[in-house]
Amino acid sequence: MVGAVPLGDAVAVAEPELVDVVVVGLGVGGEEVAGRLAEAGLSVVGVERDLVGGECPYWGCIPSKMMIRAANALAEARRVDGLAGTAQVQPDWAPVAKRIREEATDTWDDTVAADRFIGKGGRLVRGAGQLDGPGRVRVGDQVFEARHGIVLGTGTRPSVPPIDGLADTPYWTNHQAIEAEELPDSLLVLGGGAIGLELAQVFARFGVRVTVVEALDRVLAVEEPEASEVAAAALRADGVEIHTGVRAERVEHDGTRFTLHGGGGVEFTAERLLVVTGRKAHLAELGLDTIGLDANQRYLPVDDRLHVTDHVWAVGDLTGEGAFTHIAMYQAGIVIADILARTRQAKAGADASGTASVVGGAMGASSSLAASGSSGSAGTVPRADYRALPRVTFTDPEVGAVGLTEQQARDRGINVQVGFTKLGSSTRGWIHQVGDDGFIKVVADADQGVLIGATSVGPAGGEVLSALVVAVHAAVPLSQLRHMIYAYPTFHRAIETALRDLS
Ligand SMILES: Cc1cc2nc3c(=O)[nH]c(=O)nc-3n(C[C@H](O)[C@H](O)[C@H](O)COP(=O)(O)OP(=O)(O)OC[C@H]3O[C@@H](n4cnc5c(N)ncnc54)[C@H](O)[C@@H]3O)c2cc1C
Repeated sequence: MVGAVPLGDAVAVAEPELVDVVVVGLGVGGEEVAGRLAEAGLSVVGVERDLVGGECPYWGCIPSKMMIRAANALAEARRVDGLAGTAQVQPDWAPVAKRIREEATDTWDDTVAADRFIGKGGRLVRGAGQLDGPGRVRVGDQVFEARHGIVLGTGTRPSVPPIDGLADTPYWTNHQAIEAEELPDSLLVLGGGAIGLELAQVFARFGVRVTVVEALDRVLAVEEPEASEVAAAALRADGVEIHTGVRAERVEHDGTRFTLHGGGGVEFTAERLLVVTGRKAHLAELGLDTIGLDANQRYLPVDDRLHVTDHVWAVGDLTGEGAFTHIAMYQAGIVIADILARTRQAKAGADASGTASVVGGAMGASSSLAASGSSGSAGTVPRADYRALPRVTFTDPEVGAVGLTEQQARDRGINVQVGFTKLGSSTRGWIHQVGDDGFIKVVADADQGVLIGATSVGPAGGEVLSALVVAVHAAVPLSQLRHMIYAYPTFHRAIETALRDLS
């Protein structure tokens, strides 16, 4: 162990400990990188200041989807009337809270995840990691020097807007919403993005009076306007009040209730206030200045092999390429391949010259690796490509989307063709009847004859999306898509109708 050693009045910093790779932040992306590199035989230090696994398993994807599963079961039961007899529904939050506590999060205890990482051969260091000059990471009084590189996967935290009074109130972020053992009678949701809508619909289906307040002129503003309309209508049908174009100006809490004052004199009150207005990377905490990088940015820019700078990579939400677990995992795969390729090259070079693979710690590694290509990466290492980035908002109906929206494509000057069909006009949608809201919209580059974006909204919108992701990812010619056989009567068969509508 190495650290600051008091020597009389002076403080001497002993030699840092030499390891192969240091991964700072063991969320989805960091845990994947650290675990797989450790399994590959590298000496890996994984630094985590909170729970190994990060946001997704404890306060994000998994518990929120458990909540959605339960809320959708209630909604389906309420659809029995008229389809299959009658059903009486008595919502109870207790089994949902129990499942999240016991099955998803082990009461927010990461022993299983930590043991999994250690079992792969990784070394877990608890604490906040910070860059400490080139090749070095400091965790408290421990300093590690990385021979092959440092990977940052420190994610994001809720971005809370500077609304007058808000900071002094006991508002909820996604953490408190996911940890809730009991539901409030009413809930204000500030932010009509994916997370806001998913949670709003869940709570409404469990009987909470929910009001969504969104500053932009529509909810789910990053998606197609038609998707915003369907999602808003679905939430309203569940009893959610939605107010768009309202800028929150002041928040008060009188000990029991919140009041949110918006522009134009509007005001809303509720027992709880959930703030879901986006996420923010906290770059100032990472010691970026010690390696000459600017910490005054919203995200950490990376190249297409996730390099931040020589021997430093970043993965996940921190990179600003999309706040999704599947992005973090995708990026992790590239970083793992890159680091292993560089390690092999460095070793081969050292073996050929008869010297040790790494001379003089990180800086020695730096020179040998930098010689292996323009950025040091092997030619076989894949480059990140986000053209076919899928995203799913797990409302009911689900909103799945890939690639560019129509407007984004037009803004890029592409010769755009659009095809659209409502799910209700498909055989499967008609059979499904209640709860069949949705559509397929395809956006094509007419000059290239390929799809460059698509949206699939419906009861299985996220699953139907997969076919459209393949089409965009592989640039499948429209002529081939039109001559595919689509199973009857599936929801995905509506893709064929949307393609026929391209004009
Ligand atoms: C409510 C909600 C629902 C979501 N649903 C979905 C979904 O359905 N599908 C989907 O794809 N995505 C979903 N997401 C997004 C998903 O959770 C994130 O994209 C994913 O967790 C990002 O992983 P990450 O590794 O970048 O960061 P994180 O998971 O945020 O992990 C970062 C880790 O780094 C640690 N850390 C930070 N700073 C330091 C430091 N200095 N030293 C040591 N450790 C540090 C943190 O403690 C944390 O454990 C959801 C998010 C939320 C909030």
